[in-house]
Amino acid sequence: MTYQPTALEDAAAAPVASSDGLVGAFERQPHPAPASTEEREAKMAKMLFGKDYSDYQAHATWTVEAGWHNKVIEPYGPFDMDPAAAVLHYGQEIFEGLKAYRHEDGSIWTFRPTYNAARLNHSGRRLAIPELSHEDFIASIVGLVRADSEWVPDVPGSSFYLRPFTFASEPFLGVRAAERYEYLVIGSPSGPYFEHGFQPINVWVEPTYHRAGPGGMGDAKTGGNYASSLLPKVKAHEGGYDEVLFLDAATDTNLDELGGMNVFVVMADGSLKTPKLTGNILPGCTRSSILQLLRTQGKPVSEETISLKWLLDGIASGAVAEMFACGTAAVVTSIGSLTGKDFHVEIPGSEVTKNLYDHLTAIQLGQVPDDFNWLYRLA
Ligand SMILES: *Cc1c(COP(=O)(O)O)cnc(C)c1O
Repeated sequence: MTYQPTALEDAAAAPVASSDGLVGAFERQPHPAPASTEEREAKMAKMLFGKDYSDYQAHATWTVEAGWHNKVIEPYGPFDMDPAAAVLHYGQEIFEGLKAYRHEDGSIWTFRPTYNAARLNHSGRRLAIPELSHEDFIASIVGLVRADSEWVPDVPGSSFYLRPFTFASEPFLGVRAAERYEYLVIGSPSGPYFEHGFQPINVWVEPTYHRAGPGGMGDAKTGGNYASSLLPKVKAHEGGYDEVLFLDAATDTNLDELGGMNVFVVMADGSLKTPKLTGNILPGCTRSSILQLLRTQGKPVSEETISLKWLLDGIASGAVAEMFACGTAAVVTSIGSLTGKDFHVEIPGSEVTKNLYDHLTAIQLGQVPDDFNWLYRLA
């Protein structure tokens, strides 16, 4: 059976103008007080994920009358927001996450940005948030990264994490889709996502709470899904676990995903499986990239319903060799154990996982040929 690309994969394959052609779309404002070299170097030495931010941010505003306008690259920092802004009350917000990588020759690249552009609009449709053109999405990233190029690290495993997001800023407490929105991109120099590097994580299989349910917002990248995942994550941390694996809300029997990462199962026979996109699962760019890599390599890989019972039986019998989670922030990470209300299993293998990590990061860093045309030059 030939593989049918998803709408996001189709969008991601569409050509985009070069960064030189897009850079002017967000006008750079002067910065009165950028970080000093010492300040920047102190932050770049630590690279705490999501703690330190660069000098600039991209910003645009949407109104009914003007659409998206005031597209600027402005100094990073707080801005006025009315306490009645709709996002603070009804959570009308969507976001994206992607990275800029510095290659050996100093050039700066990002990975499948049109996938993120298309997904922002996919999420926006679910939350009744106006669409942003792919050109504007990519232009905002080009503009920010060019203004902040000194913040893009060159240490192995590091990157400049980009966080585009859109939220309802209209001051109005009536319950309806807002009539004013802000779109921003902020950037944070980031070392490897997990504190201890490539180490297997211990995962709690959540018996009570769900992150999303049928007809909800599970396939939209929105703060609300994260809000619902926080209490179970707090409890899992208290129990000594790193992450939470959520089961499907309808039957409580099948694997959905982690709070912010998709999951794969590696079989002892070399084949792989991942939960199929049900509408409750976020269609990850990393998930899509891994599926494409494996299909091209001729590895048997399927998207299917994966029941927890089947998984636990497979781990017990040895039919399941590895399990991993994947997402832009962590790339690929081994799941070393699963614990639930009445079970605990160890999953010792990590060879296939490690190879995928190495392959994907080598593509992102320009160390192997970019056969899929996934890289986009920012600067
Ligand atoms: C962002 C996200 C992922 C991973 O998506 P990538 O595009 O691979 O970064 C997975 N699950 C959830 C819930 C997410 O928000």
